[in-house]
Amino acid sequence: MNDINNCRRLSVEKAGGIGPSAEPVDECAELSGNQTTLNRSIDCAGVALHSGKKVSLSLKPAGPNMGIIFRRSDLPGLPEIRANWKNVVDTRMCTTLGNSKGVTISTVEHLMAALSGCHVDNAIVEVSGSEVPVMDGSAQPFVFLIECAGVKQLDASRRVIEVLRPVKVESEGRVAELLPSNSFSVGFQIEFDDCAISRQELFITLVNGTFKKEIARARTFGFVNDVEALRASGLALGGSLENAVVVDGDKVLNDGGLRYEDEFVRHKVLDAVGDLYLSGAPIRGHYRGVRAGHHMTNELLKALFAESASWRFIGHAGEEVSSSRGHMIGTTESFNPMAATA
Ligand SMILES: [Zn+2]
Repeated sequence: MNDINNCRRLSVEKAGGIGPSAEPVDECAELSGNQTTLNRSIDCAGVALHSGKKVSLSLKPAGPNMGIIFRRSDLPGLPEIRANWKNVVDTRMCTTLGNSKGVTISTVEHLMAALSGCHVDNAIVEVSGSEVPVMDGSAQPFVFLIECAGVKQLDASRRVIEVLRPVKVESEGRVAELLPSNSFSVGFQIEFDDCAISRQELFITLVNGTFKKEIARARTFGFVNDVEALRASGLALGGSLENAVVVDGDKVLNDGGLRYEDEFVRHKVLDAVGDLYLSGAPIRGHYRGVRAGHHMTNELLKALFAESASWRFIGHAGEEVSSSRGHMIGTTESFNPMAATA
């Protein structure tokens, strides 16, 4: 075990991923406006990280106020699970969603991050197994798919969740917090004994395509010492140097090295963006994570929505809009952070 104080520390601030000479932007512009969906359906196939099985994935257009719906194409009746914080049934290793009939879909967070980063409000995600394929361990392949399909506006205005007062969850030195802010930004700190990671810190405002440029390519990571234990538990069977950064003390075992000098903390930001999108709408607020993970972020959303004074829906011009607005479409309720039934 290494002494963390002997390791190099990385601390980076990214304000929209742009230099000081860049044009000023309206940080809220990307959050407001009309809802979107995909222009057309698009498919891919990949390996499930934990089961090691090959799965296919289809992203399909969906109507306004549908939100993101996962659909298991391998099961009779094509059961659906809404991408909602209330449907999170497991947060060990990845985020798993489940419905009342016990149907689950795991490892949703990287795809959810891509949908959030590409501002896709409504989509159906068909998966032929119980896990979203891990692809290269980042969100970039999903961003590529979304860009190939194209994103189109729908005739319905977008609602944004505005954080009205600080909400915080803490446990054993881990912190996840949402604070009022004019834009969507994420600050994250991590600290590991392994010198390849050590202590890393990043602050990033997610505007002007910064998700795609600065976050989307950051891969998930693991430790060589954990691989045997994970595999003995039937986990990470599909894991390889093709879909994760593998760390051994002060070394990164992947041939090509890292994609960003601070790829580890960027991946934690990616996970947070994906897990936060289970709120059901874009968030106008600042997320701060200290050694946080899927569980803490889910607890944070529970704490946010537990108090109606902590948040409100706002519309195009920053005006408050009703939390009960929406339509009943088929058997699926309109997207609403308080409605989780799929
Ligand atoms: Zn991840």
